[in-house]
Amino acid sequence: MTDFAAEPADILERLRELRTADAPTHGGHVLSYVYDSGMAELDELAASAVRMVQPVNGLDPTTFTSVAVLEREVVGFVRDILHGDSDVVGSVTTGGTESCLLAVKTARDNWRQRGGTGEPRLLAPVTVHAAFQKAAHYFGLALELVPVDSITGAVTASALIERFGADVALVVISAPSYPFAGLDPVAEVAAAALAAGIDCHVDACIGGLVLPFWTGLPAWDFAVDGVTSVSADLHKFGYAPKGASVLLHRGRDRQRTQYFATTRWPGYPVVNPTILGSKSAAALAASWAIIHALGTDGFARLAASCERSTSGLLATIEGIEGLRVVGSPVGPLIAVTTDASVEPARQVDPHHWADQVREHGWLLQLQPSVEQAGGTRLPRTTHLTITPVTEGVLTELSAALMAAADEVRGVPPVTPAEVLGALPPLGDNALDSDASFGLLTAMGLGAGGGLPERMAPLLALIEGLPAAIAERLLTELLARLVEPVG
Ligand SMILES: *Cc1c(COP(=O)(O)O)cnc(C)c1O
Repeated sequence: MTDFAAEPADILERLRELRTADAPTHGGHVLSYVYDSGMAELDELAASAVRMVQPVNGLDPTTFTSVAVLEREVVGFVRDILHGDSDVVGSVTTGGTESCLLAVKTARDNWRQRGGTGEPRLLAPVTVHAAFQKAAHYFGLALELVPVDSITGAVTASALIERFGADVALVVISAPSYPFAGLDPVAEVAAAALAAGIDCHVDACIGGLVLPFWTGLPAWDFAVDGVTSVSADLHKFGYAPKGASVLLHRGRDRQRTQYFATTRWPGYPVVNPTILGSKSAAALAASWAIIHALGTDGFARLAASCERSTSGLLATIEGIEGLRVVGSPVGPLIAVTTDASVEPARQVDPHHWADQVREHGWLLQLQPSVEQAGGTRLPRTTHLTITPVTEGVLTELSAALMAAADEVRGVPPVTPAEVLGALPPLGDNALDSDASFGLLTAMGLGAGGGLPERMAPLLALIEGLPAAIAERLLTELLARLVEPVG
């Protein structure tokens, strides 16, 4: 047995040391996962708020009444900026995934209350966030992923509407989608859903606190009739620490179905709007404090900075020979792929580019090519999320993006065949934990606990392997990371 006991100073010293190995959460060098307002005082305020509610149990807002006040005010703020009337109500969840899960569960239960039986369908473009795949899996819906244009990543309203039917419990569209930053055709889809009596969720997890302040957008929120729920993450462009999102529904009765309530056990009555029981109020309190500190003007100012930086980066990337921006991005996200209109020697593979940009000190996110229903392939891309802190480093970042492209222009993409050829034969047996670990080790992955320096070959492997095998191997990789040593 390890003796875990240590002195507080040593414990914190060790944590400090572990944290130095992390990707930097501040300064704008990581263009995904972290949302840096660039305002140190906002982080300090959030930390103070977290400390104040640290011992609170958010499970019971009748015992810890502060929790109800914080949640009411956060929901009210988000409802206002998303043009919700007084019939729009909601809750704070622990994150985008929980908001998406609950949007699906609520729609499924309302569909059943309207008389639906059997397995309902969940309808969405293939670009919808993976959280909806998880929701369909958890809650027993048949997920129907509708193909998008394989060049622009855009879905047409008619492609969704023509699949409507009495068994559709929910249609989900995004504002914008994470992979390609496309703003789905909310007005057309929501109007048709309303006419068909189908619930319509707008996933604004990433856009919800920034698009309200973006210029030149069509209506996409509760201003559109037929939109029945919206998710918006506080821990993205709400600049809050992780663990906070808002899920809003139009109509009290629709929202009440989200709750789980039971008095049928010998303990305290359980009445939960969200998935967890006992829960932290930390991210809620931090979100609340940040909202009051920024106000709508503060959010607008930060969004304007994101918009300027995004325009600047779009111009930079569009000027790079061999690369192309996918579709017409809306909001502070960009997906970049190869410009296939130039000769191969002038093309830039987005994954080689991302790996090379990393050599310059910036972390972009590699997204694999996937085949969609109908057989067409969506391009492999590299993703950038732009935050307020980007503006201060825009010149350096643009220079790195251009230099890296020059360095890998003409380098052929890693093909799945290349990486698959290097693999030991995959037996017929289902991969168990040891076999999976053996394969990972043979690929030079997982043993030291880390990922390779260059990610392009790993992404090519994900593209080339049958999805079930890639998923099994990645599960093993992640699971081994947290296995106790020895
Ligand atoms: C981030 C995101 C989610 C999921 O959110 P998590 O907070 O990571 O759980 C869902 N949808 C979209 C569009 C997102 O960008």
